[in-house]
Amino acid sequence: MRIAGMIQDSIVDGPGFRFTLFTQGCPHDCEGCHNPETHDFGGGSEMSTDEIIRKLLSNPLTDGITFSGGEPFEQAGDCAVIAKAARDNGLNVWAYSGYTFEELIKKAEKQPEVMDLLKLTDVLVDGRFILAQRSLSLKWRGSANQRILDVPKSLAAGQTELHGE
Ligand code: SF4
Repeated sequence: MRIAGMIQDSIVDGPGFRFTLFTQGCPHDCEGCHNPETHDFGGGSEMSTDEIIRKLLSNPLTDGITFSGGEPFEQAGDCAVIAKAARDNGLNVWAYSGYTFEELIKKAEKQPEVMDLLKLTDVLVDGRFILAQRSLSLKWRGSANQRILDVPKSLAAGQTELHGE
């Protein structure tokens, strides 16, 4: 898969110590994006899911993995393989997406791997970054339109937001 980078011990991409994987390639082009170098689908570097999983599991202090980007759901199949390994090893899974939860459900109709990743995700921070709604007081999200969703509950019964402020 193509990645933009990774952080082994992030404390800003969800609770606890997190392994954050920045996937390469994003179609959303949000004004004010903090990671424009992650937009080019041909950029970044190639790394196997096996290698990423090895790095993920190398730190015993890690509480979970966060998929960020770029747009992780454009490489949902590879991310799902990594998410499965994380879950199998007792780690929780967060994902950021420029797509809304509803858009991902729609996308999954043609790309079943999107649903595979959603089913392996505990928390989804969804929606594009909207510069006019940016606030530094928001926890775990950049703009007020973005939601912090409990994915298992949302899949079972519509969107269920967690409290991120
Ligand atoms: S979805 Fe994220 S990475 Fe993509 S353009 Fe928007 S802010 Fe940037």
